Amino acid sequence: MPKAQETVLEIDLKALKHNFKHLKSKLNNSTKFLAVVKAFGYGSDAIEIAKYLQDLDADYFAVAYANEGVDLRKAGITAPILVLHPLTSNFKTILEHCLEPSIYNHKVLSEFIEVAIEENQTAYPVHIKFNTGLNRLGFSKNDVNQVVSKLMATSSVRVTSIFSHLAASEDLNEKAFTLNQIETFKTISENFIEAIGYKPILHTCNTSGILNYPEAHFDMVRSGIGLYGFGNSEKENKNLIPIASLKTVISQIHKIEKGESVGYNRAYKSDGGLKTATLPIGHADGIGRQYGNEKGYVTINGKQAPILGNVCMDMIMVNVTNIDCKEGDEVIVFDAKATAENLAQTTGTISYELITGISQRVKRIFFR
Ligand SMILES: *Cc1c(COP(=O)(O)O)cnc(C)c1O
Repeated sequence: MPKAQETVLEIDLKALKHNFKHLKSKLNNSTKFLAVVKAFGYGSDAIEIAKYLQDLDADYFAVAYANEGVDLRKAGITAPILVLHPLTSNFKTILEHCLEPSIYNHKVLSEFIEVAIEENQTAYPVHIKFNTGLNRLGFSKNDVNQVVSKLMATSSVRVTSIFSHLAASEDLNEKAFTLNQIETFKTISENFIEAIGYKPILHTCNTSGILNYPEAHFDMVRSGIGLYGFGNSEKENKNLIPIASLKTVISQIHKIEKGESVGYNRAYKSDGGLKTATLPIGHADGIGRQYGNEKGYVTINGKQAPILGNVCMDMIMVNVTNIDCKEGDEVIVFDAKATAENLAQTTGTISYELITGISQRVKRIFFR
């Protein structure tokens, strides 16, 4: 790979393929694979990721919001797209672009049916979401009969799937809780299928669910973070490859004397003999202020350089006193070795937040 000459997010599509194959290897042949590409494909690029996975025969895609699905359709994605969190104001858009809504409460169900009838739809695919313990979105198990009677009263929609979402699939200390969620989902599914008279696709596992609860794969699994290279545990991380590398360059090197300070609010004071490098990446690019004041670091010529003082909007200054480096040298913020997960941990957050926060200002480069 050529050395970075500006701030770039490199996306390794070979690594994506590896992760996809690895996750698929955990499934039965008949289990469908839904690739979650919400939030710009976890900060990488939803369109490129979806195109690549569509060519690898991913069965389904999911986004959080309707507009994300519209972007995929405009880019030529023809596979079914589940919209996990549609809002009633998006229903016309959803129909226009053949997106498939998650239906999570009575208001959404009634209003979607209304719009589907208005638009002369028959058997329009919808997905019914049940809450089994996350307490975020979804009908409760007591809603089954009411939901089914609303559905049976119309031919405008048809249930393609019923699903739920696990609250703690990555946390084996919560195994009893998760197994209870899975049991609840089974009971709901049985009641639902009996009441409606046909069998939709059943799904409840996210990435950690795939890895930790093979008995709960049902007919389909939904993977996001695993595709992007993180398995939420040291053991699982070994089998996956982070697909995104955030790189930048050294813009300027300074020698800082004793008593001088670095950056806004003079947050770092030098004891002398300090060498700093200024880098063209800041909180507007996704490196939040919490990484400042020597919590976070970057890697330069194989060595860690802590971030000094406050993170600026467009820049950070790092300590390179003991690093042999010069202006123009490449800097690794995170890559497959110095991972986003490790950097995220320095501020008590998780890989998901760091990678989805890399702003659209940062140029994306793809490697096949
Ligand atoms: C984001 C999301 C996923 C993907 O979860 P990962 O942990 O990234 O695999 C799956 N299902 C739902 C409902 C989600 O919101």
